[in-house]
Amino acid sequence: MRIVVIGGGVGCARFVLGLREHVRRAGAGDRIDVVVNTGDDWWLSGLRIAPDHDSLLYALAGVNDAERGWGRAGESERVSAELAAWGTAPEWFTLGDLDLGTHIARTAWLRGGASVSEVYARLGSRWPLGVRLHPATDAEIDTIVETDQGDMHFQEWWVRHRAARPARGFRQSAIAHARPSGGAAAAIREADVVLLAPSNPVVSIGPVLAVPGMRELIRGSAAPVVGVSGIIGGSVVRGMADACLAAVGVETSARAVAQHYGARAAGGLLDGWLVDDVDADAVPALAEAGIAARAVPLWLTDNDTRAQVARDALDLARTIAG
Ligand code: GDP
Ligand code: CA
Repeated sequence: MRIVVIGGGVGCARFVLGLREHVRRAGAGDRIDVVVNTGDDWWLSGLRIAPDHDSLLYALAGVNDAERGWGRAGESERVSAELAAWGTAPEWFTLGDLDLGTHIARTAWLRGGASVSEVYARLGSRWPLGVRLHPATDAEIDTIVETDQGDMHFQEWWVRHRAARPARGFRQSAIAHARPSGGAAAAIREADVVLLAPSNPVVSIGPVLAVPGMRELIRGSAAPVVGVSGIIGGSVVRGMADACLAAVGVETSARAVAQHYGARAAGGLLDGWLVDDVDADAVPALAEAGIAARAVPLWLTDNDTRAQVARDALDLARTIAG
């Protein structure tokens, strides 16, 4: 079976770790492809940074800092201190030394003419990930946040201002010319099931869906499309996704996010949606809206709970496929 996941950074990584674990335990040799958000990417100190990709890479390789929740384990910041002394990197964005190695390699390959997809393949070949990562698009589509003080790059809004400047909206630069990467498009076309990770719906999943042609690819797939809620009991679990949802007029609830994606039968994307047990009361309303919802525990805390969430998502997909 071919399983495609669409998602962003750390929330996506937790889910994909569970999916990989479940697939290993089941032993059926299922293939996992992840279509990764590139809207978080940006240029800093002459380097191309790709936070969502790197969160996935490090987590799947087992070299991530699980305690801090992002970046590499055993990280140091000697280069960063030098950059600060030169006044060439903002003090609000951490660049670890090991992490900088990734950014330098990526930038060198890009400068040498490699596509973003080729860079993903090279970075992913260092460790046995058990999962293939594809950029949603090879084009640069950095997310821009529109605020009353003007437009700023997503990273400035998110990291520097901690999402505290009210956002009026989000857009992706040069999105009109982007198209799905070859790897992403092939994976979706050949998928037996498409899963939307419990990633930030606005700034992690949103930019993927904004790539012209992406929605059509997903909607045109014969595979069931099942999403997993990143909202549990009206709160975002981790991060500041509520600030993003508020900006696009979506309530922070598992039900509202499902309706934001929409039922495939009504022009949206979803056939199925997993909510946490505490959100079970959303199930009948979603069924009425054409989304087969199911309530299960959605805390991605350890190997077993994560594998169970993946299994529940695949079970729901199987039921939908009949
Ligand atoms: P980021 O780009 O690194 O912020 O990561 P993502 O966009 O992939 O995921 C962030 C989202 O993951 C958050 O908004 C949370 O809603 C969700 N998330 C994190 N931990 C959990 C968890 O244990 N369970 C569920 N259901 N969602 C989670
Ligand atoms: Ca992200």
